[in-house]
Amino acid sequence: MLKNKTAIVTGSTSGIGLSIAKTLASLGANITINGFGDKVQIEEIRLNIEKEYKVKVKYADADMTDSTQIAKMIDDTIDHFNSIDILVNNAGIQYVAPIEEFPENKWNDIIAINLSSAFHTIRHSIKYMKKQNWGRIINIASSHGLVGSPQKAAYVAAKHGIVGLTKVVALEIAKQNITCNAICPGWVLTNLVEKQIEALSKDKNISISQAKMDLIAEKQPSLRFVQPEHIGEFIKLLCSDAGLSINGSALSIDGGWVAI
Ligand code: NAD
Repeated sequence: MLKNKTAIVTGSTSGIGLSIAKTLASLGANITINGFGDKVQIEEIRLNIEKEYKVKVKYADADMTDSTQIAKMIDDTIDHFNSIDILVNNAGIQYVAPIEEFPENKWNDIIAINLSSAFHTIRHSIKYMKKQNWGRIINIASSHGLVGSPQKAAYVAAKHGIVGLTKVVALEIAKQNITCNAICPGWVLTNLVEKQIEALSKDKNISISQAKMDLIAEKQPSLRFVQPEHIGEFIKLLCSDAGLSINGSALSIDGGWVAI
């Protein structure tokens, strides 16, 4: 379905991003993966995706806080693969603290990685999508792009911001074969959430498994974690011909979180 297409997935060395990269590769797309981690492990990830799905995979070590490195990642992808067809803005971090104690550097990092990086990737890649008159931009927001939670000032602000950015880009490209949507997942069991489970277990002096249950019961009526693969499957639909009429939406995959 995506043979001869190229996808960039930011923050794809682990968690949701890695799962999305694999789904897109399984559909035949060549991929630029990006994110931090152990260089040997990242090279293993790169080679494994190439081998398993018979596609080409390039690694870009661009730091999503740096607009120059982001522009270089886009240019290098074009030099290497000749097109950018699918852009998934997924890189993200979390920090939890009451607003009066929220460190300024954590605010700045979260806004840069979870929001501004998408502004930079989109503005640098959209000209290629316009030229080829085909493109899919998918911004990984969160339930926190639609509703708030205490102690997550920067994350909630960034995720609401990316939902707004999604709408503006969608309107600007509406007449072309390009779409821009946000996906708003609920809890997915990744590194980002495991850190919050560990903190909860310590704070309340409860076991990790109890903390996991408490965390999910507070927000997610399904009482199940969203599987990363479910997000990839949804992106498959957005990348299909049937996805052409879905534009500017904030699409919840959250086990009912925002229905309450
Ligand atoms: P994760 O920690 O497993 O993955 C985050 C990825 O971003 C990693 O590859 C990491 O290396 C990369 N990254 C971090 N800082 C970076 C930087 N400065 N430059 C480049 N890459 C950087 O977490 P995840 O849960 O898979 O999160 C992926 C996205 O999904 C995030 O945007 C997150 O906000 C969003 N999300 C997660 C959940 C959840 O429950 N896990 C829910 C809703 C939304």
